[in-house]
Amino acid sequence: ASELALYDAKTSGESCVYYDRRQHAHAGLERALAHALERGEFELHFQPMLDVRTRRVVCAEALLRWRSAEHGLLFPGSFMPILERSGQIVEVGAWVLQEACRHAAHWKGVRVAVNLSAQQFASRDLRRVVAAALEASGLPPDCLELEITESLMMQSPERAARMLAEFQADSVRVMLDDFGTGYSSLGYLARFPLSGLKIDRSFVAALEEEPGGRDAAIVRAIVGLSRDLGLELVAEGVETLRQVDLLEALGVGVMQGYYFARPIKDWQPG
Ligand code: C2E
Ligand code: MG
Ligand code: MG
Ligand code: MG
Repeated sequence: ASELALYDAKTSGESCVYYDRRQHAHAGLERALAHALERGEFELHFQPMLDVRTRRVVCAEALLRWRSAEHGLLFPGSFMPILERSGQIVEVGAWVLQEACRHAAHWKGVRVAVNLSAQQFASRDLRRVVAAALEASGLPPDCLELEITESLMMQSPERAARMLAEFQADSVRVMLDDFGTGYSSLGYLARFPLSGLKIDRSFVAALEEEPGGRDAAIVRAIVGLSRDLGLELVAEGVETLRQVDLLEALGVGVMQGYYFARPIKDWQPG
């Protein structure tokens, strides 16, 4: 809200009362976003995932930020929908893949995770773009982890299955993000060549509120299911020591969240 207000104050002058303020601000974002890539205004922040038993960082997720000259530092929630609608996300997504791989090539075995958008996943080029990012950086393919959501996978399950098989053939890992919030059939988990699941943070939060409750039962079921299917499991949005303890007691070994570290710009494994 403060960004919108700031934008209006800077650009619209005294006559702004007659504008739809939100729409006005949105148009401004859209215009600035069109040049963000060429101006080098995007940056990646990295947030580690820890194996709590070994205390080692196993992976870090690349999270996109836009440092706009006019609007300040923006998070994906405020610009990703615009990138999606304009189709720019395909180009920006390719940049994210290149940058993430370039960084991770120096991480000595710590993997990097990259989120994919629906449009990227639908593009015919994706396999080639991923291969090019790996090639240019020298990052081993099994050090790259693509994060897709259930809804993205379910848009076209046949196609998704084919693409997952291709990534598997290329040794690139694929994780199902925000797991538990979407509508995927459990049958797909068994049939699709996924590397693992990321339990959505809503379950992690609910676990603490009611450790013996229904959400805990679901987390327990997800743990059992992933173990039996040979899927890796990550809990996201872990914010407290109590959550760490509860998750560990349920058998979740890899965790990500503010409790361990926030996403930061020049992150490197320690
Ligand atoms: P996500 O992939 O589920 O990423 C996790 C989000 O939770 C990130 O928000 C992260 O900063 C935040 N987070 C991490 N730990 C905690 C915690 O302990 N508590 C809470 N409350 N939040 C935590 P962020 O960076 O704002 O990203 C939001 C979403 O935007 C991501 O959700 C992902 O879907 C999307 N996104 C981010 N970067 C990219 C990108 O490069 N490409 C695409 N296509 N999507 C991206
Ligand atoms: Mg993610
Ligand atoms: Mg997630
Ligand atoms: Mg999420």
